Amino acid sequence: MKYLLLIVLALALLWWWRAMKRRAPGREPGKQAGRAPSPQAPDDMVACRHCGLHLPRTEALSGQQGLYCSQAHQSAQEGS
Ligand SMILES: [Zn+2]
Repeated sequence: MKYLLLIVLALALLWWWRAMKRRAPGREPGKQAGRAPSPQAPDDMVACRHCGLHLPRTEALSGQQGLYCSQAHQSAQEGS
């Protein structure tokens, strides 16, 4: 009867130790790193060289001196 109590105690200790060990690395399953924080905005934002407006890189016009939000700002900045 005394041994049964010891075995139960040992099992409880083992279970507790494994539970603590699983929690120890500090990486909670809810907080997975590596993914983008926001699902939208896959494009990176760039600033217009002339007016400073931020727009997606895919929508920006590239000039000789940088990126612009519109053709007007590109010609205003580069004078062409
Ligand atoms: Zn602009």
